[in-house]
Amino acid sequence: MIRSATIRLTLWYLAILMLLSICFSLFLYQVWTREFDRGLRPAPFFDENTGPGSTSQFEELRRTRGAEGRANLQNDLILFNLTILILGGAASYALARRHLRPIEDALEAQSRFTADASHELRTPLTAMQTETEVALRNPELTVAGARNLLESNLEELAKLRALSEGLLRLARENGQGIPLKRVSLADVAAEAEKRVAAAARSRRIKLENTAGDVPVLGDHESLVELVAVLLENAIKYSDPKSSVKIGTGRHGKQGYLSIRDEGYGIKASDIPHIFSRFYRADLSRSKEKVDGYGLGLSIAKKIADLHRGSIEVKSTPGHGSTFTVKLPLDPS
Ligand code: ADP
Repeated sequence: MIRSATIRLTLWYLAILMLLSICFSLFLYQVWTREFDRGLRPAPFFDENTGPGSTSQFEELRRTRGAEGRANLQNDLILFNLTILILGGAASYALARRHLRPIEDALEAQSRFTADASHELRTPLTAMQTETEVALRNPELTVAGARNLLESNLEELAKLRALSEGLLRLARENGQGIPLKRVSLADVAAEAEKRVAAAARSRRIKLENTAGDVPVLGDHESLVELVAVLLENAIKYSDPKSSVKIGTGRHGKQGYLSIRDEGYGIKASDIPHIFSRFYRADLSRSKEKVDGYGLGLSIAKKIADLHRGSIEVKSTPGHGSTFTVKLPLDPS
């Protein structure tokens, strides 16, 4: 589709260029021939009786030189237009590619997103379908067996819901710029902490929040979402009874918020990939299976990008990780 659009746009650019070039050539031809004819006209003081046949000789010469001049001019203009056609064709194609590249990238990202999302949705759906089919084929299905099946399906449904919510958040954060206002990192940290308090309690993880009043330029709701993702991860990927520390600071024109856990840590080889959609690192160090779809950090990164900020990670496997969000300070 993009290829045919590129060719169509190239042809349009080329058509406009050739129209201008041909109009210019016709105009040039008109002006030149007129000037040429005028230059060869007999001078006003020319005496027709200076010799027999001199008028007709002059006429002959005038016609021959006029025809020659016109032929030369025609050849030059044809050559000029052919050059414009070739060079203009190449330039039009390059220009069309350049203009359509962002659209091509966006379409490609969208189709990759759809393919990834449907792939992730298929796994729990297939599990539910298989379990239900097996149970229905079992003539000795008991009430207890049916209850087990329903409970397992409910679990899969909860995962599907979490996945669809993650996908929706990701699609929402895909939007254009968000209005940036003065936001205090202390407020952001306090609200994000409230959101994950229940999860922290259930894993007996201590949250130590020492965030200060650092004013940054941002959208309060989105930043709370970003920090909540990092806190959820710090809680999920840590052993019970460990602690998670939230701190803030300033560096140059940036304010930062860091979240430090004492959890499983991330291998250096995984770090470049953890912000990619659906990427989940191998958690061989964790005894339990940790639920997730690999969407949290890509949502967090998208929010940081929309704020012209960044997220940095430092991690030592077996000792814990520190995620630092850097955002532009509010200059006012
Ligand atoms: P999810 O947590 O749903 O898997 P994320 O995008 O939030 O998805 O995280 C991607 C991966 O990065 C996780 O699967 C995990 O392996 C790793 N990760 C993220 N945060 C931490 C952390 N604080 N400690 C250890 N590993 C982490």
